[in-house]
Amino acid sequence: MSVFLLLISLLVIGINTWSLWHSWQLDITEKEEDARNLSLSLAKQAEDAFLQVDITLADAVRQLRQNGNEFAASPMFLHQIKDQQSKLPQLHGLFVYDTAGHWVASSGNFVPTNASNADRDYFIWHRTHTSMDIHISHVIRSRSTGDLVIPVSVRLNDSAGNFAGVALATVKVDYFRQYYSYYTLGEKDVLGLILADATALYIRPFPDSFIGRTLSASPLFKSELKASSSGSATWKSTLDGVERVFGYARLERYPLIVTAGYDRSRLLMEWMSANLTNVLLNIMLLFTISGMGIFVLRQVGTNVRNQVELTHVRDELTTINHTLQSLALVDGLTGLANRRQFDGLLEQALIRSEKTGDPLSLVMIDIDFFKRYNDTYGHVAGDECLQDVSLALKDSVHYHGDVVARYGGEEFAIILPCTSLLEAQKVAERAVKIVAETGIAHESSDIAAGVVTISAGYSTLTSTGKPGEAEQLKQNADSALYQAKRSGRNKSMP
Ligand code: GH3
Ligand code: MG
Ligand code: MG
Repeated sequence: MSVFLLLISLLVIGINTWSLWHSWQLDITEKEEDARNLSLSLAKQAEDAFLQVDITLADAVRQLRQNGNEFAASPMFLHQIKDQQSKLPQLHGLFVYDTAGHWVASSGNFVPTNASNADRDYFIWHRTHTSMDIHISHVIRSRSTGDLVIPVSVRLNDSAGNFAGVALATVKVDYFRQYYSYYTLGEKDVLGLILADATALYIRPFPDSFIGRTLSASPLFKSELKASSSGSATWKSTLDGVERVFGYARLERYPLIVTAGYDRSRLLMEWMSANLTNVLLNIMLLFTISGMGIFVLRQVGTNVRNQVELTHVRDELTTINHTLQSLALVDGLTGLANRRQFDGLLEQALIRSEKTGDPLSLVMIDIDFFKRYNDTYGHVAGDECLQDVSLALKDSVHYHGDVVARYGGEEFAIILPCTSLLEAQKVAERAVKIVAETGIAHESSDIAAGVVTISAGYSTLTSTGKPGEAEQLKQNADSALYQAKRSGRNKSMP
């Protein structure tokens, strides 16, 4: 029962733990999928934003070429790039620099004189690389407006194919800041725009000091992006050490990556509060089962104890019963069958005699001059004498079925089943002889030897089943005893 209870409890705990764990895993999987979908849609948004800038920049370069002079921007060109800049919310500015990094054209109103952008990374990159593809660089602070911007640039070549300067479009970091703020997210959830070289361009909600930090140690760059261009996984952020469920997506056209990360501990709290009732109900269920089990167990224990006690009591009663039964059937002084048992046994012997047709004999015995014995030696000695005579009488029968009984007072009877009159005579004579030979002193006896003697009468019949046969047998034996007394005692007669 205890083992069963333990097993049930373990099973309930096991199933509940498993189902809770499973539900949490499903929740995480769902959130990973969410994060991946969000990254894909943000990647699409970033792709569109950069594509518009890319097209605008290409268009501007074409305009420059159409004018035939790559270094002197016409007023129409300036008007055109100003117009373009005002139309695109993400576009901070359009600029053209000559080979020395000097401003040739700007969509802004302010053009620094004699200033050079030749020190900018993108400028150096284009000067040293012949590729005509657009180049996206780390975030910089604009020299013209002071805004944080992402440079998107392209190399300009002269007709001979030599480096002739750089055309630059700057994209506002604030554009992404604003866009990402539209999403309702947790305090520690992140949305990030990252350059393919693992440099952060903008990560919500981190302060601007995080812009430009490298994420090369993050699992995103160590393993995830190597395996797939979009996906999801859970890892600890290398920037603030918070564990998040991340989704990520690489842009198709541009070397940019977008990530969306949900704070795992927030998800856990939300999941827990959603499942709290469930957990509490399960705990209550477990306690109820255990409580009921313990109650039943105690009840069973009590029942078993009661059962054992009852068995003890029953055994005791049986013993007492047996004692009472034997007390009712046995003579207390001599240990012989008493009168009650004698009557029963005589009836049974008659029935057997009728069945088998064998003769049944009865010897009736009476101690001679016993009143005088009592008078002479006292009642206590008389009782002892009765016990001695009993032992002597027992010695005078040899067969298992023979029964010596105390008939009453100083009178005895011997039932002899399957015994003829001749055999009965032998038993009676032997009894008389053995008692006399026992030599119990009896000085007041008329018997010459001065010892206790008995007289015996015997009788035999073969039962025919008639009523009153027992009485008849006793009466016959008793008459014979009377005869033995009258003819001198210390003898037996038929
Ligand atoms: P008889 O030879 O004719 O049988 O003479 P008796 O004295 O034996 O005969 P009686 O029947 O007159 O006396 C029987 C006596 O046996 C009377 C009684 O005091 C005594 N007696 C009967 N039962 C007990 C007993 O249980 N204990 C003792 N001590 N004496 C008993
Ligand atoms: Mg008598
Ligand atoms: Mg007598």
